Amino acid sequence: MTTVVFSRIPTDPFRVLICLLLTAFAFGCAGSRNSVQSLQQQPCTPDPDFHVRYLGTGCFLMDFKGNKLLTDPFVSNPRALRTVAGTIGTDTAYLDRHLHKEDLQGVRMVTAGHAHYDHLLDLPYLCSHIPTDARLCVNSTAKHILASYGLAQPICIMDSLKGDSLTEGQWAYSADSSIRVMAFSSLHPPQFMGIHILNGRLTEDMVERPTRMRDWLQGRTHAFLADFMENGRPARRIYFSSSMAPAPFGLFPPRLLTEKSVDAIFIGASGDHDAHRYPRPIIELTRPAKVYLIHWESFFRSKDRKARAINRNRLIRFYKETKAMVNDSVPVIVASPLRAY
Ligand SMILES: [Zn+2]
Repeated sequence: MTTVVFSRIPTDPFRVLICLLLTAFAFGCAGSRNSVQSLQQQPCTPDPDFHVRYLGTGCFLMDFKGNKLLTDPFVSNPRALRTVAGTIGTDTAYLDRHLHKEDLQGVRMVTAGHAHYDHLLDLPYLCSHIPTDARLCVNSTAKHILASYGLAQPICIMDSLKGDSLTEGQWAYSADSSIRVMAFSSLHPPQFMGIHILNGRLTEDMVERPTRMRDWLQGRTHAFLADFMENGRPARRIYFSSSMAPAPFGLFPPRLLTEKSVDAIFIGASGDHDAHRYPRPIIELTRPAKVYLIHWESFFRSKDRKARAINRNRLIRFYKETKAMVNDSVPVIVASPLRAY
């Protein structure tokens, strides 16, 4: 098997452990917990035809009239020490408790922004409950990882279909044409103090199933437009980026908006950023009716406990900056794990 790894810290477990422990340390170092809790309780007028449920990190189940899109399927939240030093896999009992099997009926498409475990770990297990004709829209590295599971669902590799800020990509449609997605070149920022780990890619199928964090290499990073269709036309449109990609990464050609405006954007809010390059360009491009801030909370922490920000000060700053970029009527929602919107 050919493994291409680009990393300033490749897969050295000790150094990964140090990074994660320092990151874990940072979890508790900043800001006011009450402020984050109040941000999660911001009012939001529901759309009667479009239901959104946040499962945490980048995982959403979006439902337009029974046709569902599942994003970045990761719910299990294995603990930090196990993630760094042991083996990781789906906690099926935990997952079943938080995402019921019947909720997965009607899933037409699944997207993942890249192939790290916190965006893809639970997909193989969930595929046992997702309809077999649901399309899995992932990067080529994810395809090579998932090959070890022999999933029934068809995999659509987005690397060759994607567009960028200047070029339209190709729409990938669900089997029943009820949902379509288009991917765009994005970028994965360093995880910690300029250090970017596990940012390699695979070029051949894995034979053994992944058991460790380091098996889930990143591959190419994508942002998505997703349309929920009705009578052959897009009835709802969302933009989704689980990575904080500075412009022009993550952007798409403005002419795509002539067919349909963007109803809601879902954007990562966990890391350091330059607001002029992220999120301002994507907000000015999409002019969304709703903004969801995602992937902001510790994903080493059980969902049975209150969510805790990876870095509270950064999250609060990101919220305030984003709020100042949109009209007063546009809600900026710090998505709360397990809550429906
Ligand atoms: Zn990642």
